[in-house]
Amino acid sequence: MSTPLDLYRPGVAAGRDAQVLHRAVMPEFSGWLEHTRPAGGCARPIRLAGTLAAVERDTGRILGEQHTDELPDQTLYKACGNRRETRCPDCAWVYAGDAYRVVRCGLTGGKGVPASVGRHPVVFATFTAPSFGAVHHRHIPRHTCATRQRCDCRSAPCRARSTAGTCQHGQPAVCHARHDTDDPRLGQPLCLDCYDHAHQVVWNYFSGELWRRTKQAIERHLAALCRRRGIPLVRVVTASGKVRWVPPVRVSHGKVAEMQRRAAVHFHVLLRLDGVDPDAPDALVPPPAGITVDDLEAAVHAAARQITVTTPPREDQQRGWVVAWGEQVDVRRINTAGGELTDGKVAAYLAKYATKATEATGHSFTRLTPATIDDYADPEGDHLARLIDACWRLGRPIHDAMTSGAATADDRQGSLDTKPNAYAGLRRWAHMLGFGGHFLTKARRYSVTFGQLRDNRATHRRIEDDDPADTITVGTLTYIGSGWLTDGDALLANTAARQRRESTRIGREELAHEAWLAEAAA
Ligand SMILES: [Zn+2]
Ligand SMILES: [Zn+2]
Ligand SMILES: [Zn+2]
Ligand SMILES: [Zn+2]
Repeated sequence: MSTPLDLYRPGVAAGRDAQVLHRAVMPEFSGWLEHTRPAGGCARPIRLAGTLAAVERDTGRILGEQHTDELPDQTLYKACGNRRETRCPDCAWVYAGDAYRVVRCGLTGGKGVPASVGRHPVVFATFTAPSFGAVHHRHIPRHTCATRQRCDCRSAPCRARSTAGTCQHGQPAVCHARHDTDDPRLGQPLCLDCYDHAHQVVWNYFSGELWRRTKQAIERHLAALCRRRGIPLVRVVTASGKVRWVPPVRVSHGKVAEMQRRAAVHFHVLLRLDGVDPDAPDALVPPPAGITVDDLEAAVHAAARQITVTTPPREDQQRGWVVAWGEQVDVRRINTAGGELTDGKVAAYLAKYATKATEATGHSFTRLTPATIDDYADPEGDHLARLIDACWRLGRPIHDAMTSGAATADDRQGSLDTKPNAYAGLRRWAHMLGFGGHFLTKARRYSVTFGQLRDNRATHRRIEDDDPADTITVGTLTYIGSGWLTDGDALLANTAARQRRESTRIGREELAHEAWLAEAAA
């Protein structure tokens, strides 16, 4: 019998149309289509082989076993699950929908989050990086466009100054251009040699720590405010039976990192005030009435001004670097009467950035290694090449940093005279221009989790498929490859997925996606 693998044999016509035809005329075609359905739409599904066992949930008894050899293509197909739109548009679409629901449930309730969260004070803050040198930018003094996402307002001149002139490298220090949104010069330094690439990658690398300390400071500010206003501490008993007195307010956040064109990260953060229930310390309850959204806003501004991180000293940077926020922290309220920022808009905004990484810089890299680094890093190159070079240089093991011309940098790692380098992780994150954090993060208490949403979906599918809910499928599977077997298979599976999406509605999950799409387009 012929199988799709035959198409790989030399001499067999392997054009996509031929592949599609070959697959579609096979008697088991509809079974194949059903079999690939969990991965339908995925650009690069994972192929697995091994044994699948149906196990009774309560007893652990194995009710039946099946080897993937008995399945179409002798393979189990699993969607790649990549959140990045540039890697897999379909999986990113699913992820964005989940991100939208996670963020939105934290604002309006649902999926186990009480609806009363809708009355907690909440702000949407944008924390930016400071300047590491002048870049071409688009500055709109006053927007007249209908939506910021499709802003077509006329920009003010980029870097207008009455005293024109040049920097010490002979580059003009002014730019009178009014840059359009798609101008490739946006985010590029006016002078590459003046620009502090090392400081920027260090900032990206330590920005997660800066955020962590800032959030602690926000909570400290609010706790102090409660003390001054005579709002008492709350007595809670921990799981281990210990009694603790805790401040009556806490802050739950959902946050997304956005890589700007200049390749510095921004954080967009939802901050929600919660209270503490002495009888149920994990319950989501409103904060005391004496603490308001004004107080939250003031605490964010104060913490952002106050908190800095001083990075560890180095041979070439004796005092380390100072990692602090940019001058302006934009703090906005949502769902205010007449305000343009609604919970849906904010959720859509965060979901959109959750599917991106470095794309705004114009490039998207995979992890860099000693074998590939020279293709990307260049101390005399363009902006990105210099940022990557800075990551690689600062991340070098200390031993070699102190000896000149260390060609054996990587060979020496692990030797006794190699001191730990606090910046070593910069090599691991060179392809992210130093940023090693997750793009979407949230406080444990903020909302429902991604895992819960996936479980809901699996249960929903099981009910649809009439699988008994008291059995679970356990696989002993090994990875055998990525991607569809042929371009024809990819076309068939992806077309079927698209048709399913257009013709059927998988209940509320799909409706939430529609809401997200509508908000994202608005
Ligand atoms: Zn995928
Ligand atoms: Zn410019
Ligand atoms: Zn505009
Ligand atoms: Zn210069």
